[in-house]
Amino acid sequence: MKKWGFLLLCIVGLAYVVVNKASFFQEKVKIQSYDQTAKKNFEDIGTSATIQNTGISREQVFQGNLLLVNQEYPVHQESIKSDVVNLFEHKELTAGFSLLESDIYLSRDIAEKFSDMIAGAKEAGVTHFSINSGFRAFDEQDQLYQEMGPDYSLPAGFSEHNLGLSLDVGSTLMKMNQAPEGKWIEKNAWAYGFILRYPQDKTAITGIQYEPWHIRYVGLPHSAIMHEKNFALEEYLDYLKREKSISVNFNGKSYLVSYYPLSQLKDIKIPKDRHYEVSGDNMDGIIVTVFE
Ligand SMILES: [Zn+2]
Repeated sequence: MKKWGFLLLCIVGLAYVVVNKASFFQEKVKIQSYDQTAKKNFEDIGTSATIQNTGISREQVFQGNLLLVNQEYPVHQESIKSDVVNLFEHKELTAGFSLLESDIYLSRDIAEKFSDMIAGAKEAGVTHFSINSGFRAFDEQDQLYQEMGPDYSLPAGFSEHNLGLSLDVGSTLMKMNQAPEGKWIEKNAWAYGFILRYPQDKTAITGIQYEPWHIRYVGLPHSAIMHEKNFALEEYLDYLKREKSISVNFNGKSYLVSYYPLSQLKDIKIPKDRHYEVSGDNMDGIIVTVFE
């Protein structure tokens, strides 16, 4: 009798593992407002175990991976990534794709994230990627604007390329809107922290024509939430401002994403022993992301 009981327990246990493993690989993004949910994952936040206001200053509004840059909100000098490098001179950062020119610059950190994504695409058999444009300094952007005009470029300081977080990806086979590289990016970039910044169905919100080549790094879990809810960056930041705090489950991990207006800078709760990231929105708020 005991033996049967043990066997039954084993079967139930095995079934549990199989079910959980299956849900892990589905990469389902589960988003809930903080109050209703997995509070237990973050219960130390808000108690004495947390440190309040760890010196996050007003300048943080203009720094981080979630900065909104558009016709209304320009790039501030202090927002420019500090680790911009010439990719042509850093072969270790360009495995698996080509560069259109020898003077393509990008944040080293973002280049590493991009390389991870290219490795993921390779596994799916999509391999003909190139970077056609990366970081552009204000004077370079100005020159481009003079040459291309307002229909095809943005004035200096109003382009995401001036941040170091954005790049134009190409296919060496054909135009991006037809290339397998373009289709793969549109479908999968979010899983690597990137977003297609100017999608076809968001031109009314972004004010920019469809650009299947322009990707922007925002990081996880943000790109996963935007993908799940079909948000442009403008919509996502509005959503966070409205919700104040959301918890996200993605790929077996939990995240807590909280928005604080500048007026509540003092209330920002930073946990002691957790990994967290802070970013401004380039408007009037700060987003704190805590990893489980
Ligand atoms: Zn671009």
